[in-house]
Amino acid sequence: MTQLYEIDGYHYIVDLTPYFVLGVLVIALVCAIAVLLRRILASPFRYPYYVARFDVSGRRNVRIEDYIDRHLMDPAGWDAIVAHRAYIQNWKHEQEEYLKTCRLRSRRERQYAEAVDDDRAFRFITRRDQTRYKQANYMKTSYKVSMDDSELDVNWEWIVERRIRLAAINDEATLRDYHAKNQRRLMTKQLREQIARRDNYTCQICGKYMPDGVGLHVDHIVPVAKGGKTVPSNLQVLCSKCNGRKGAR
Ligand SMILES: [Zn+2]
Repeated sequence: MTQLYEIDGYHYIVDLTPYFVLGVLVIALVCAIAVLLRRILASPFRYPYYVARFDVSGRRNVRIEDYIDRHLMDPAGWDAIVAHRAYIQNWKHEQEEYLKTCRLRSRRERQYAEAVDDDRAFRFITRRDQTRYKQANYMKTSYKVSMDDSELDVNWEWIVERRIRLAAINDEATLRDYHAKNQRRLMTKQLREQIARRDNYTCQICGKYMPDGVGLHVDHIVPVAKGGKTVPSNLQVLCSKCNGRKGAR
């Protein structure tokens, strides 16, 4: 990289390469300082959210609260939530300790206050696989993508309140099912089989044994019409005779 100068009839050839290199170095240094400064000034706080994803692929009329209820009723799910709650508390404690001695203290305190998000600490997300198609050269091919479907962010108080209400009904159903108007709709084939197995295919009044399931009824102990729920504690196996007699009363 050279430049030709003409001064007083003399020609000078000046090599500009060192100036160019110096310029590049200065720009690089300024950029490096800017990046470093940004990193120092940026918030170091990352709030540790609890995130649970529920796969709802192929399901219709999904209500995320039902999935949350089942997650809270599942001992493993509940343990994970309680452990994470402790983790958040610990994280906050550590950050507050750090704030006592850190540099740029007022800035850090403001950044910490912005990062703390207790009201939305627990994130529940439903996710579903969707089939997409792409057309190429007259060939249609399908592929799957996972998409977040819905999200509910709640705080610890919401979780505790929900857990207490579930405990009050002995974790026998999701809150929505328990309070559903149409309790008969909740009687599924699986539940029927579960009760039959539990009661050993035996009429709970006369003791008739019906291993082949013929004449076996699954009865609401407190009738649905009187507010009885479709939950295991309110269901029993009856034979047709005892079921008919009970109905007549
Ligand atoms: Zn009977």
